[in-house]
Amino acid sequence: DPATGKYTVSFIEGDGVGPEISKAVKDIFVAAKAPIQWESCDVSPLFINGLTTIPQPAQDSINKNLIALKGPLATPIGKGHRSLNLTLRKTFGLFANVRPAKSVEGYKTAYDNVDLVLIRENTEGEYSGIEHVVSPGVVQSIKLITQDASERVIRYAFEYARAVERPKVLVVHKSTIQRLADGLFVNVANELAKEYPDIELQTEILDKTVLNTVTDPSKYKDVVVVCPNLYGDILSDLNSGLSAGSLGLTPSANIGHQVSIFEAVHGSAPDIAGQNKANPTALLLSSVMMLNHMGLTEIADKIEKAVFTAIASSPENRTADLGGSASTSSFAEAVISRL
Ligand code: NAD
Repeated sequence: DPATGKYTVSFIEGDGVGPEISKAVKDIFVAAKAPIQWESCDVSPLFINGLTTIPQPAQDSINKNLIALKGPLATPIGKGHRSLNLTLRKTFGLFANVRPAKSVEGYKTAYDNVDLVLIRENTEGEYSGIEHVVSPGVVQSIKLITQDASERVIRYAFEYARAVERPKVLVVHKSTIQRLADGLFVNVANELAKEYPDIELQTEILDKTVLNTVTDPSKYKDVVVVCPNLYGDILSDLNSGLSAGSLGLTPSANIGHQVSIFEAVHGSAPDIAGQNKANPTALLLSSVMMLNHMGLTEIADKIEKAVFTAIASSPENRTADLGGSASTSSFAEAVISRL
């Protein structure tokens, strides 16, 4: 907005703890003087002809602003509707899910200095939703891998590695078993690597990556991992557990060709909703990824540093999920006082 010098970002506050952690982010952005103005978006789903859709005003907002920050959305169980998260992914063509997992200095977990980056293919693989009963007691589920989808996510991984100055891209696969499907994924990576002579391509079988990650995560500190959908889903939770001991600290980005949506990895935490107990860190670190994506790196660094030093400072400044006694709002205050 040339009049205010601010960037407009769509904000989906989400369900459950969503509004509380969103308020913390907003307060911290004001205190940090981040040049962002929020446009609130209601994505309460509409069910039209059996299809889940997002209300048109929300679609228009996100298509106009191209960037959105999103709180967790509760998925009604057993109603037969597609999850709203999947609907968002499909609506905006969000093909890559970026999940960094980094230890917080001063907050002790199983390993110090975990610093992992994983990019998961977000649109196909085992999540294509193509399943059928062949005969009673026999079900077939199709894993779909296409050259196009593989190419766009692996290309993004090379670009991301360049941007965050990691020297290697590691393709994690199972082409020993899924010869054609994962074989295609690996072949596409080998072809693309020729366009990125400055980045080294490595490939590794999933089993080995899992074993190495739990025994010594520092092995992957200079790589960007990229993998098909299901492997990425599982491996990224493993990374979160190793870095933070929980999902409460893990941010993510969903990247499309035009639109990008940044969100915490955790859900709506209905058990603690409305009690001023939720940890806003995952959404805050997602907003830091968003600022970096927008090129606002200085303000991103400032907020990230304040979050990490607040957590490290004392258990009084940690929320209950990290064994502390802080509330959502008192943690936000602790961050603000460190900006
Ligand atoms: P959840 O992540 O909401 O909760 C799991 C546990 O972690 C709970 O004990 C919760 O209290 C705790 N927790 C989660 N976030 C926390 C935070 N910020 N601070 C402190 N503790 C936190 O997972 P769930 O219970 O399986 O799912 C609840 C709802 O969220 C479901 O409707 C599910 O579909 C939805 N969900 C949404 C997303 C998303 O929008 N991206 C992701 C996962 C689950």
